[in-house]
Amino acid sequence: MKTRLLLTALLAATLAACQTNPVSGRKQLVLVSEEQAQASSAQAYAQTVNEAQQKGKLSTDAALNARVKRITDRLIVQAENMYPPSRSWKWSVTVIDEPTLNAWCMPGGKMAIYTGIVRKLNLSDDEIAQIMGHEISHAILGHGRERMSRAIATQGGLELGSILAGRDLTVLAPVADIALTLPNSREAESEADRYGIELAARAGYNPHAAISLWEKMSQANGNGPPQFLSTHPSPSNRMQALNALVPKMMPLYEKARN
Ligand SMILES: [Zn+2]
Repeated sequence: MKTRLLLTALLAATLAACQTNPVSGRKQLVLVSEEQAQASSAQAYAQTVNEAQQKGKLSTDAALNARVKRITDRLIVQAENMYPPSRSWKWSVTVIDEPTLNAWCMPGGKMAIYTGIVRKLNLSDDEIAQIMGHEISHAILGHGRERMSRAIATQGGLELGSILAGRDLTVLAPVADIALTLPNSREAESEADRYGIELAARAGYNPHAAISLWEKMSQANGNGPPQFLSTHPSPSNRMQALNALVPKMMPLYEKARN
């Protein structure tokens, strides 16, 4: 009986929570507000950075830190044009010194990239821009909120009442953690690819790097799937779709470079 009530509440919330994304125009299931998503992400981010610091895992490579900052700063300018509400975000990027092949951007613009992905794949600036452009796109397209909503749904809606009431933000920190480990939907991935390559092109980064990046990523797959791929399904048509976008992106890239 209790379960049925929760399911009814969840269904009602679901019906009330379909929103049209202002950037993509796609209808999304959203059970958490932008403010809640950002608050929980800020908390999860602070915790991640804290833990990395305590383990001595914050990268002290000044050149790499400056490089990542320079690239993400240029992407942020374009993200703020594409999604103006993100102008109020407290953007932040951390380089974490771990061998994992991973990078992410949480709701509200909290980013990380791991030294492993840069070094093992010997990434160029253009390729780093493709990764971070893709990740930033997940954030400005509201995909983190979608994943949090799914995390809530898979937890059986147990915390739904307090979340909808906006009372207890502490329960959202684990939701943010879970959301980070959940794979994105294929639809969300295609969107992030599409907008990511555009952000990078507008910021002056070569669209062809999207192809070389995924080639490197699939080759790295030989030693067990990179963590990045565990949350980023890699359909066979992904590179084809990116390839088809390159000619459309070249004028944006050339304009940005001139
Ligand atoms: Zn993705």
